[in-house]
Amino acid sequence: MKRFVLFLLLALAVVSLAAQGQDLRLIPYPCYMQAEEGMYAPEGGVATVFTNLRGTDRGELLDYIAASSLPLRAVRRQEGAHVRLLLDNLDPSFTHPEAYRVEITPQGADCYACDVRGLFYAFQTLLWLDGQRVPAGTGRHSLPLVKIYDAPRLEWRGWHMDVSRHYFDKEFLKKQLRMMARYKMNRFHWHLVDDAGWRLEVKRYPELTDSTAFRPWRLWEDWGRAGGRFCSARSKGAYGGYFTQRDVREIVEYARRLHITVVPEIDVPGHSRAVLAAYPSLGCTGKAYENSELCLGAEKTFEFVTGVLSEIIDLFPDEYIHIGGDEADRSHWARCPRCQDLMRREGLQGVEELQSWFTRRVEDWLTSRGRKLIGWDEIMEGGLSSRATVMAWRGEKWGVQAAREGHDVVMTPWQCYLDNAQDDLTTEPRGVGGYVPLRLTYDFDPVPAGLSEAEAAHILGLQGNVWTERIATPQHAEYMIYPRICAIAENGWTLPERKSWERFYTFALDEVDHLHQAGYNAFNLAAEKGDREEAQGPVEHLAVGHSPVYTHPASAKYPGRHGEATLTDGERGSYNYQQGQWLGFEDEDCEVTIDLDSVVTVHEVSADFMQRADQWIWLPAGVVVSASQDGTQWTVLSNEPWEPDFDDPMIRFQRFGWQGTTEARFVRLSAKASGRRGGWLFTDEIIVR
Ligand SMILES: [Zn+2]
Repeated sequence: MKRFVLFLLLALAVVSLAAQGQDLRLIPYPCYMQAEEGMYAPEGGVATVFTNLRGTDRGELLDYIAASSLPLRAVRRQEGAHVRLLLDNLDPSFTHPEAYRVEITPQGADCYACDVRGLFYAFQTLLWLDGQRVPAGTGRHSLPLVKIYDAPRLEWRGWHMDVSRHYFDKEFLKKQLRMMARYKMNRFHWHLVDDAGWRLEVKRYPELTDSTAFRPWRLWEDWGRAGGRFCSARSKGAYGGYFTQRDVREIVEYARRLHITVVPEIDVPGHSRAVLAAYPSLGCTGKAYENSELCLGAEKTFEFVTGVLSEIIDLFPDEYIHIGGDEADRSHWARCPRCQDLMRREGLQGVEELQSWFTRRVEDWLTSRGRKLIGWDEIMEGGLSSRATVMAWRGEKWGVQAAREGHDVVMTPWQCYLDNAQDDLTTEPRGVGGYVPLRLTYDFDPVPAGLSEAEAAHILGLQGNVWTERIATPQHAEYMIYPRICAIAENGWTLPERKSWERFYTFALDEVDHLHQAGYNAFNLAAEKGDREEAQGPVEHLAVGHSPVYTHPASAKYPGRHGEATLTDGERGSYNYQQGQWLGFEDEDCEVTIDLDSVVTVHEVSADFMQRADQWIWLPAGVVVSASQDGTQWTVLSNEPWEPDFDDPMIRFQRFGWQGTTEARFVRLSAKASGRRGGWLFTDEIIVR
């Protein structure tokens, strides 16, 4: 009897899962989904499609449908059509232009929305659902019986691509935009220019592309090491490229048809090495290759920026124009007579206010032309017009501050930085250095807890950023984008109470297969190893709970989650050294003494150290382990020399220490600083067994 009840419960669970539509795969997950057994399959494999859209919208949607994988033939009569895409302005639930409703019956599919964007997303949903209830590989088209009501949680669901550090051509961009549409993403933030290359044709300033769109080195790091100079397109071995205005119009139009808005970024006044290489007089010193900051005291800088923006405005119809504003080394302005002069004239207190003055001027200029300024969160420093939108990248707290100050905000903190590795840091292709697995991106909520309703309304959305310092090929870029961009899409679209990691993860596994079949080099999620093995659970050993004594204190920049006790808290470090399990020692030896309270038998004293050349973190120049019974008489148990390899670019974790048998109350592990000035030692735990 009991067994029968259990069987019944299981059967009911399966039925209700199907009824709720949880068996139907869809990223991002919809607001409401009610599925039934059965499906609609077109007779003879081809169905008819009708839409009451008119004019360009109608033509474009039907073109998109004709080029899609669904076998649909457009008809002019609504009656009898199998798939109907209907503008329905009367239904009050469709006030959002991206919202849609889909109802699939044994006779076909009806889709409703109040705007062509909603109908486009309804059709994306049909593409997702097609074939999900027929055996894989049969190639048969069918739609499961289901009712879906859907609308986005947030307005801005974006993908950011840096084409400056490495050049990515328009075919690459179009290919990714097609996939963004599948995920119902609607913003493409195009990072067009930066220190490493100017990639946009500007008719007023031809030198920009004539002299700084190419360089004699392909890889960004090699180029930087060799002095970071540009060359002409005709030079032997020249690497690079740029987008003509015709290319730009083509991409903007391509994106528009996918209902994706392109947000161009011209990054000023920092990140302008390329500008100064082409027009040195725009810098404080008047010389190329000295710094990356435009001179804000020179009127012709403003003329230059607005000159470029005039052409940008012609090319990009969307209201948002991104002006960068990040990471400017403001010290140049403090030394420049022109900048100082301007600060006196305008009564500006410090170089932060100087940048803020410049941003306000550009903002006024854009506003008078009907556009909106958006910039990286540094633009808040020194004051910012409340009309400006802030892109929070240095951390969630900047987004919170901006929202509280009344700015609209797009969230893009480190969990959204797709240049971080998504798996084993020691074997993955080199990224910016952090570890951001799919789960971390998925768990990020773009609307921070603690905001009032009015403040939260300022959070426009989020985006996934691809910076390309170490991403040189389309294959590598796709590997970093997919499947994490699916998590970005779901975070922007799906209500938090409708999100589920377990469901999303299963869907993402299938989506990776889909991406591979479609010719995208997605990360193989099924083979994911996860975080550092040591970090996956606490470790028990003799020193846990015993306070370590440090000869030199750890750096205040990396004090550890448990302060001085961090090295004996039983918590091993993850791949991310900023998360509090690691202690950092800057230019110092890491020498730690532990009192075990009584004499015990000891078999091991060891610690793992990290090497990360890009962060100036090195393995130690040798480790000495010693022990004592009374704290006065010390015996050296091991003295292990090591020569750090400063040219090794790989991220490494290496264990140093001693194994054997001794009786001791005190143990000491002494790791010698690498010897490179400004270098770091990082360790996560002193293990005593
Ligand atoms: Zn200056």
